[in-house]
Amino acid sequence: MDTANRPARELHTAALLAIGSELTTGETRDTNSNELARSLAEAGVDVAWISALPDRLATVTAALSGALAAADVVITTGGLGPTPDDLTREAIAAVCGEEPTVDPKLADWLRHLFERRGISFPETNLKQAWLIASSTAIPNDNGTAPGWWVDRPDGRLIVALPGPPSEMRPMWQAWVLPRLRERGLGRERVTRTYRLTGIGESAVAAQLGEALLRAQNPIVATYARSDAVDIRVSAIADSGRSATAIVDEAEAAVLAVVGGYVWGHNDDTWPAVIGREMAARGWNAALVEVGTGGSAAALLGGASWLKGTRAIASGDAAARLPLAGLAREAGKSAGAWIGLAVRAVEVGDDTSVEVAAVGPWGVSESRLTAFLGGNEGRRRAGIAAVAFLHGLLRTGNGAQAPNAPAATGGQ
Ligand code: AMP
Ligand code: MG
Repeated sequence: MDTANRPARELHTAALLAIGSELTTGETRDTNSNELARSLAEAGVDVAWISALPDRLATVTAALSGALAAADVVITTGGLGPTPDDLTREAIAAVCGEEPTVDPKLADWLRHLFERRGISFPETNLKQAWLIASSTAIPNDNGTAPGWWVDRPDGRLIVALPGPPSEMRPMWQAWVLPRLRERGLGRERVTRTYRLTGIGESAVAAQLGEALLRAQNPIVATYARSDAVDIRVSAIADSGRSATAIVDEAEAAVLAVVGGYVWGHNDDTWPAVIGREMAARGWNAALVEVGTGGSAAALLGGASWLKGTRAIASGDAAARLPLAGLAREAGKSAGAWIGLAVRAVEVGDDTSVEVAAVGPWGVSESRLTAFLGGNEGRRRAGIAAVAFLHGLLRTGNGAQAPNAPAATGGQ
């Protein structure tokens, strides 16, 4: 890591190579790249691609060459073991046109490790003491495979880390990441997430349109999550415009078409957004569910404003009572300001959902059809109930209600 004659190069892009035949045979899942990609994305680095490769020298060498041509930083995990099938060092040496030699200090360290455990040193392990002229050893406190930090003449970098996550992770966090930061890792990125309900991901995509979804900066992407369809907008500064200004402009375009479906932002959850509305009024609620498998309660977790939850089996006589009555009864018996009731019934391939809320404003009811039946229909019914309550509090009668004890019996 001689800093004297190194050309300055900002590290904006990365390519990740996961090396090991256990990955390409499906025996091991590549979790390393996933962790590294997250960490890099957080640092404002654009990960150009992630590849999983078998332990085959020609394949790994070709992939390294390609990655070096495309990215500022190439990070490999795996293939640093002592056995002949571990070929990452050989591949890096080939790409750099350098010959590996045994580093005496690393060799001493390795021999010492084995001595400590009272095991005779297998000469095959000497491979783990290799370096090439342009590489620096990355210390490994949890195994026998040091990593390699390789400076390329054009300022690019190759970082090779061992495959076991327990070794890779601390080396990345404690040694590699701080040094990459010193070199100018990533660009400031501004990211905002809009959380939607009542519209499917494909409909969101259709509304946003191709121009927005295919843009490189800002990046606008949709994700179908279990509790929402998320739209994530992120940007980096470009041509004199700040990242914030670019995100602001994209936000206006996004909200103009789907703003009506947005219920939260960034890390918002249903219990949190409803909790804010409840806290503003000093209210709380109780919930009763029929035929949803308890999906609304599951979504709300242990929200502090939820005074009680109850599930009624579909076969129970109470399951067929008028829903507003069930809601009122739920609020009353829990001593809550609001009673919320939901009933889901599978009809054909879909699920018919009824929701009722009884609160200080009176009674509100809604009916809708949730796409699909079974578990998926029940899950959607739970979201519909929770979204209905949120809508009431945010824009409906609940928002204008006097701050007075509920018809349901108050607190
Ligand atoms: P290595 O000797 O450096 O090739 O890595 C050895 C072990 O690390 C493998 O047997 C796997 O259990 C684990 N490993 C390798 N690559 C990965 C990866 N990309 N993600 C998670 N675990 C991995
Ligand atoms: Mg391996």
